[in-house]
Amino acid sequence: MIFLTGFMGSGKTTVGNVLSSLLGREFVDLDERITEEIGGSIPEIFAYAGEKAFRFLETETLLSIAAREEKYVVATGGGLPVDPLNRSLMKSCGIIVHLRARFETLKQRVSDPSGRPLWNDDARELFKIRQAAYEDADIIIDTDEKTPHEVASEICSKIEGHPEPIPVILSDSAYPIYIGEGIFKDINSLIARHIKPEGIFALIDANVLRMHKVAIEEALKGVPIHIMEVPSGEQSKSEAFVQTILSKMFSSQINREWICLGIGGGVTGDLAGFVSSIFMRGIPLVHAATTLLAQVDSAIGGKTAINNAFGKNLVGTFHQPLFVLSDVMFLRTLEEIQLKNAMAEAIKYGVIMDTELFDYIEKGGPLDYARLAAMCSRDKACIVSADEREGGLRRILNFGHTLGHVIEQISNYAVYHGQAVAAGMLFASWLSHKLGLLGAGGLERINGLIRREQLIADDVRLPLVEELAGFMAMDKKASGGGIYFVLTPSIGNVTVKKLPDSEVLEAYKEFLHGF
Ligand code: NAD
Ligand code: ZN
Repeated sequence: MIFLTGFMGSGKTTVGNVLSSLLGREFVDLDERITEEIGGSIPEIFAYAGEKAFRFLETETLLSIAAREEKYVVATGGGLPVDPLNRSLMKSCGIIVHLRARFETLKQRVSDPSGRPLWNDDARELFKIRQAAYEDADIIIDTDEKTPHEVASEICSKIEGHPEPIPVILSDSAYPIYIGEGIFKDINSLIARHIKPEGIFALIDANVLRMHKVAIEEALKGVPIHIMEVPSGEQSKSEAFVQTILSKMFSSQINREWICLGIGGGVTGDLAGFVSSIFMRGIPLVHAATTLLAQVDSAIGGKTAINNAFGKNLVGTFHQPLFVLSDVMFLRTLEEIQLKNAMAEAIKYGVIMDTELFDYIEKGGPLDYARLAAMCSRDKACIVSADEREGGLRRILNFGHTLGHVIEQISNYAVYHGQAVAAGMLFASWLSHKLGLLGAGGLERINGLIRREQLIADDVRLPLVEELAGFMAMDKKASGGGIYFVLTPSIGNVTVKKLPDSEVLEAYKEFLHGF
């Protein structure tokens, strides 16, 4: 998405039209969208409902554009970038291009000022006030003596190298997920795009630091930085290690002007998220995800967690990052088993909501991980946007997880989460079929893909019926003698049904026979 910003007369519509044909992208004029929707001109909306109402409509319209997968060229209204939320929305899904011009040039260009609200004697003042917001752009083009075609060509030559991220849109903010090969080297400039911190407190997975030391040090040079290594493994997500990190932060005199950067997989991400949410009541966080699991799942959504004696992920917060960076270059050093672990979650998105993703994995052949991460990130972002604080919809992400969690627990977490979920998905699909929801063809495809990808090791033990019954009784999700079960009526679709425990257990008994 390319957003053109600038004062009245800066040429956003004219340049936008030329640019859209140069890039072969559809052109959207936001003001036009609003007037079409409302059925009145902008001066009429201003006169009838006031500027506040117009600004609300503007943000709503921008939101609807930002959420689209298509890449547009968008001309924005002159006052739109003043609201930081609008700038954060634009940054989260695209590139902001400011069409700059001198005030005199603009005045000359606007031949019919009568149709434009706010274009009067106060315009110069307004022009001055808005400058700071306009300057907060990725690309600034001086347009004074240039034709629209010259400006559009200049934009074309400058947008290369600027990533167009995937947005996570929240109720009062938005953040981008940058995905690509070799983009970690740009981390400093990406941070600067969002914030100017005093320094970076980096929590880095020990394996990642060892294997990518030079690249990490090179990318982060030039900024004050404190690095703390996170020992590999789940045991780092402990209360004791959180204390160690906090002590290090205080003794290093980190303050609220610093940011926390987590470089690693889900363990480092959950820790960095948790610590940054409680240190001095919260400092900004950036996730640089280095495992496929973190890139397709754990880095997105703002859930943070540590474990304690009572169980996994029982202590945590919601703390959304400034942005997520998923550089697939890191995946080259990742063990095969970790890739498989994440593939289970990727197939899960395919089954519950994304036929294109399912088809892509099913097609076989070498995977383009950047494409895979982008598809999964879009899916997770979509669910997180609709259910920011896990009110209900996020439950669909638990497809395959009911049985999966039990498999993990009875193995004392020796079985990888992805393997357990893969086995859980086999049961969830089988149950969907048995309940008359999923056709035989769909069941066969899901089974076939999970088996072909060899996601479940031979020694994964499925729970006995009695074991499952015990866990279901304890499960916090079980209420009033039933369990909310995530099922699929067809690939790409999902439904949640409350089933009596007895029905699930009866079905599971049958499933075990055929496993
Ligand atoms: P992980 O962070 O433990 O990483 C797996 C292993 O890969 C580790 O040994 C690590 O040292 C190593 N590693 C990481 N990056 C590497 C690289 N580029 N090259 C080589 N080795 C590398 O595990 P994970 O699978 O990424 O994440 C699992 C964790 O995520 C769990 O603790 C889980 O609870 C959590 N999680 C959180 C959420 C959430 O929404 N917050 C969602 C899903 C999972
Ligand atoms: Zn999972």
